[in-house]
Amino acid sequence: MSHMPRALVTGVHGQDGYYLTERLLSEGWEVHGLARDEDAHLEIDDRVVLHRGDLADRPALAALIETVEPDHVYNLGGISSVAYSWEHPVLTAEVSGLAPIALMSAALDLQGRTGRDVRFVQASSAELFGEPATSPQDESTPIAPLSPYGAAKAMAHHACRVFRQHGLHASSAILYNHESPRRPESFVTRKITSGVAAIARGESDELVLGNLDARRDWGWAPDYVDAMLRAAAHDEAMDVVIGTGRSYSVRDFVAAAFEAAGIMDWERHVRVDPRFVRPRDATELRADATRARAELGWRPTVEFAEVVSRMVAEDLR
Ligand code: GDP
Repeated sequence: MSHMPRALVTGVHGQDGYYLTERLLSEGWEVHGLARDEDAHLEIDDRVVLHRGDLADRPALAALIETVEPDHVYNLGGISSVAYSWEHPVLTAEVSGLAPIALMSAALDLQGRTGRDVRFVQASSAELFGEPATSPQDESTPIAPLSPYGAAKAMAHHACRVFRQHGLHASSAILYNHESPRRPESFVTRKITSGVAAIARGESDELVLGNLDARRDWGWAPDYVDAMLRAAAHDEAMDVVIGTGRSYSVRDFVAAAFEAAGIMDWERHVRVDPRFVRPRDATELRADATRARAELGWRPTVEFAEVVSRMVAEDLR
């Protein structure tokens, strides 16, 4: 690249958008971010070229790629909640399934028009695997989604391979749960750490949750951003599973969060309400990130207890 390298990041206002943008800026990239019209102004907006628009507006996505002429496109935007996807299945398919295809198609056109290498990274999800029969999962685990969210993500994942075969450097990073103080409270981790902080401050005495037995592979969000950067920089585009390889139950997370706040008799503060129990829920999602380690040199840097205590510390502040 003879010019200053340019990245386009969709979902720039999300947890991963924030960490990815910080990394790209620190490495000398010009960052263009896509955020929805209705999103508030965020501090990061002053450091990126902000484009307002909707992932459902596919002509606008194509026009954006054509005018920005990015070297790398990171597709982090879309609908991130399984529950929401059941309420809005068509919108989910548009935003999380068709938008990535529109972006890849425009990236391929840009590559053809300019003769420049354009690289695409799709933030895929372990939700692709539905309720997998085996654990841990890797790149050869069957894709078998169980929600409109998973189906839309599966479509985008398959499209990465299709466009890759057609000459686009398109990688699908199958990201397991990754957390930070920037995680919204719609995810169980942040719901727990902010609930525990409220209890520690005496503002509340109860935390109401769903299935405590589900096991997830929870990592530190900036590590997953690092994996996406490595995927984009690698010679060959690929499908790659990103996770720590260790799983813990929701109950383990709850216990660790209370412990981090200095509360040992946590059971009396926790109640299970069927309202939060999902009709279908994978028993265990756990990553086998052998390929990421071997080919990308990636490894997670923050272990479970430290992820939990960093989130609790931030919520206590
Ligand atoms: P997901 O794995 O992307 O759906 O991430 P979540 O953080 O939303 O959910 C992780 C696990 O926590 C799932 O197995 C949920 O069923 C379980 N869980 C238990 N109680 C709750 C709750 O109150 N809220 C959420 N979001 N999840 C919960």
